[in-house]
Amino acid sequence: MNFDNSYRQLPERFYTSMLPEAVMKPELVKLNEPLAAFLGLPVDQLTAEVLAGNELLEGSDPIATVYAGHQFGNWNPQLGDGRAILLGEVIATDGERYDIQLKGSGRTPYSRGGDGRSPLGPVLREYIISEAMFALGVPTTRSLAAVTTGEQVRRQTVEPGAVLTRVAKSHIRVGTFEFFASKRDTEGLQLLLDHVIERHYPHLSDAESRPIAFLGAVAEAQAKLIAKWQLLGFIHGVMNTDNMLVSGETIDYGPCAFLNEYDPTTVYSSIDVYGRYAYGNQPGIGQWNIMALARALMPLIGTEQADVDEVQGVIESFEEHFAGYYSLGLAQKLGMSGLRTDDDIELVDQLQTLMEQAKADYTLTFRALANLVVGDTTELEDIFELPQSILEWADTWQRRLDQEDADQRDELKSRNPVLIPRNHRVNAALRAADAGGFKPFHTLVDLLADPYTLPDEHRDFAKPPEDFEKVQATFCGT
Ligand code: AMP
Ligand code: MG
Repeated sequence: MNFDNSYRQLPERFYTSMLPEAVMKPELVKLNEPLAAFLGLPVDQLTAEVLAGNELLEGSDPIATVYAGHQFGNWNPQLGDGRAILLGEVIATDGERYDIQLKGSGRTPYSRGGDGRSPLGPVLREYIISEAMFALGVPTTRSLAAVTTGEQVRRQTVEPGAVLTRVAKSHIRVGTFEFFASKRDTEGLQLLLDHVIERHYPHLSDAESRPIAFLGAVAEAQAKLIAKWQLLGFIHGVMNTDNMLVSGETIDYGPCAFLNEYDPTTVYSSIDVYGRYAYGNQPGIGQWNIMALARALMPLIGTEQADVDEVQGVIESFEEHFAGYYSLGLAQKLGMSGLRTDDDIELVDQLQTLMEQAKADYTLTFRALANLVVGDTTELEDIFELPQSILEWADTWQRRLDQEDADQRDELKSRNPVLIPRNHRVNAALRAADAGGFKPFHTLVDLLADPYTLPDEHRDFAKPPEDFEKVQATFCGT
């Protein structure tokens, strides 16, 4: 096996060495064979027993890692892998290093009051959405497998237990830095920074100030990531600093969901009562989290006025990075190579206003525009009850497209998915699975592997929910 466990080489105060807790009767629900091949893991060894943590792969040397974090803005000094175990790191066929982690694998010293377990629903939700995000081109942790445990977990009701195998470039969070900063463990902070630079940002190893360069790189990676979320209508739901990876991958698909109607104030998470993590707030929260990382890094930076000014500048750079990635992405969704003039910006603003007024479906509006340029206006007319103003807008837009290369028009369908993991579909698949039927789950996963095309017989999957199908709140389900 191609294991090479580098996090384990860090001092013992970074983790607890321990095995996953065995479960009663593991059964495989899904194994992601293409991902296994990419990681160089032999499929025949990825048995339900291994994927539930009852048996270990050769070379795996499991640990639970420690971190802290700001949850909904409140400081929590002690978090960590409360129901996850890092089996180890493998060097994949692309030469890169990937964490293999079991989630739902039993209690650890960081479990606090929790049972260390995961119900089936949240495991399958994470599987579906993380793999969909990957297919949509968003940096994300991935799902290698889902197994049921043969045990029950008690939440609001009793539910089947399950374990997810999660793959990530690393599981190092803003909250990992905050943990060592809060302990005033400057040596630990330095070791963590060295590890992360070597692992994720090796080009920064000769930077004049490594912590500041690192902060800038994370700010850019996160701005780029969150721009992608916004462009897809993805709402993460729990952007706590312990759920923000310094590698710039999306992690923790708890109460996340995709927009149906375009409304920037949308919140689905049942625990986000004040709307802190609403769709429209995500960029601002991304910057808030960068500020938390900056604060944690200060012991390595120094407190001279010049240092403080430089850090302030890096925090502010998040806004420019975000604006740049977002406006480029929006332009590309509309077949333009960039928003070049005030007129371009005005054009995009008008579209967003029209969508908001009409409560238009976010994903389908862009897809309908891709069809409009090949002469089909029916989809757009279906979405906008009073299509007059959107059709006028589209005339102006088409004239603007004449200034672009013709191939921009052809690209529209590959930049605007027809399929997203809509919450009502995800929930239906999870309800069926709870009752023992995994077919809707498998269908959804298969269709979402190619979100830009949809076989005719499955075109209902593209539709937004009818009123009675609407999911008002998504439960964290931990
Ligand atoms: P999350 O909301 O999944 O990001 O979890 C926040 C923190 O709570 C992390 O430290 C988790 O490991 C921990 N946690 C969540 N659910 C459980 C559970 N069922 N048992 C133990 N710890 C948990
Ligand atoms: Mg988390």
